[in-house]
Amino acid sequence: MEQLSDVGLIGLGVMGENLALNMERNGRRVSVWNRTVPGVEEGVAERFVEGRAAGKQILGFSDLSEFVASLNRPRIIMMMVRAGDAVDELIDQVSPFLAEGDVLIDGGNSDYMDTGRRVAACRARGLLFVGAGVSGGAEGALRGASIMPGGAKEAWPLIRPLLQDMAAKAADGTPCCDWMGPDGAGHFVKMVHNGIEYGDMQLIAETYFLLKRAGGMDNERMSRLFGRWNEGRLKSYLVEITSDILAYKEADGGYLVDRILDVAGQKGTGQWSVKNALELGESFGLIAEAVFQRNISTQKELRVEAARVYASRLEKEPYASFSADEVEQTLFASKLVAYAQGFDLLSRASEQFGWNLDLAMIARMWRGGCIIRSAFLDELARAYEAGGGRGNLMLFPAFSTQVREALPAWRRVVATAVCEGVAVPAFASALNYFHSLTTDFLPANLIQAQRDYFGAHTFERTDGERGKFYHEEWVSLQ
Ligand code: NAP
Repeated sequence: MEQLSDVGLIGLGVMGENLALNMERNGRRVSVWNRTVPGVEEGVAERFVEGRAAGKQILGFSDLSEFVASLNRPRIIMMMVRAGDAVDELIDQVSPFLAEGDVLIDGGNSDYMDTGRRVAACRARGLLFVGAGVSGGAEGALRGASIMPGGAKEAWPLIRPLLQDMAAKAADGTPCCDWMGPDGAGHFVKMVHNGIEYGDMQLIAETYFLLKRAGGMDNERMSRLFGRWNEGRLKSYLVEITSDILAYKEADGGYLVDRILDVAGQKGTGQWSVKNALELGESFGLIAEAVFQRNISTQKELRVEAARVYASRLEKEPYASFSADEVEQTLFASKLVAYAQGFDLLSRASEQFGWNLDLAMIARMWRGGCIIRSAFLDELARAYEAGGGRGNLMLFPAFSTQVREALPAWRRVVATAVCEGVAVPAFASALNYFHSLTTDFLPANLIQAQRDYFGAHTFERTDGERGKFYHEEWVSLQ
């Protein structure tokens, strides 16, 4: 009988094809299956096997039971399909062919609550379900991504060699893949990764905007500046590609970035991270602002009309009372806030759901393969280790010195942007978060007084014990 495959892959979309090739390159025999929509899309697996996978140890199937029968036991099947109902439908379709102890991995961008539910439902059927966030896009899927698995822990020894072989490797050779925790922990970590990615991208976009509109810098200079920053503490994939993008010209010599409509899309994981931060009571303003800015970008017609009404096009000569170094300090300090908010959300979820997330390990796992990979994550991992694995990173000595140094520039840059009418909501939100965090007295006393005044919601007293609540009859009801 023909040799059985080591792993199965379902869903030959952009990510699935590349993951299958990655598995094969790492010495696995792979079986692949894609749904067949009669009359629309037939023979997807066969086409792949005859095309990009030609001559490789990859077998294509159009029959699901034959696909499952082609796999070694316990079977390991990775699904890379559209998140949502498609995953539940697939579990129902494939389960009847599976046996106790087989492993199903969902590598899509699923909601972590769905993953938690699926882990339990599959366990009841004797199957081990793993929700694995995958970051790095098509290239990462092919050459090595950052992979964040969580769910049925018994599956980890079975899938660890495969996933760690497929994952990107950090500069010190560590695979960018490790076990996150039970239930939907893997997908939760991926969701927070995407939230931080939204924050990072918005901060870089505001930097560009500020340099261009208030600093009057041209694309070549900005590209060189980002290139220089990429050799320092801001070294990261996103800063590197920003330098490339700014210098990229079309055949006629025009800069492509200047011809791209200022309307940004999104697929929902940024929003999810914000919703979850709200539900878990975390302060997540910078990342929320990044999502809101994508929302307002889509209101192009309204913005054009409003700019006309307020004549707010930049008509005068750009004026900048800040240096490029001060902008670098602003970007760095604000980036710290994005990570502080993201990691605080992870910490809160870990506590709330009993996941015991290892924050230093998560920082190390994001050093390669994923979109937010950066030199800074090494420092972050070391800071968490030194800090006992928990705590707000703005307070870690490794960062507080840098923040203290950056603060005057951070304030001046944000103030100048505001005075010049350049929208920098993420920079401002980051700075205000910092001001709130480092203020030992906030005006929440007045809010509590108002709440008690109109709704008898009670308050604690500065001269009383914590946890003891008082109510005042502010006005006598006649
Ligand atoms: P894609 O190119 O649109 O492919 C989607 C795949 O899902 C196709 O194979 C599609 O089959 C299959 N599918 C859709 N509905 C299905 C159903 N009801 N039953 C069975 N199969 C179904 O998407 P992708 O970019 O590869 O993304 C796949 C997953 O990875 C998504 O959850 C996505 O969010 C996540 N992800 C994507 C990226 C990225 O950069 N693209 C990065 C990380 C994670 P048909 O060909 O028959 O339609």
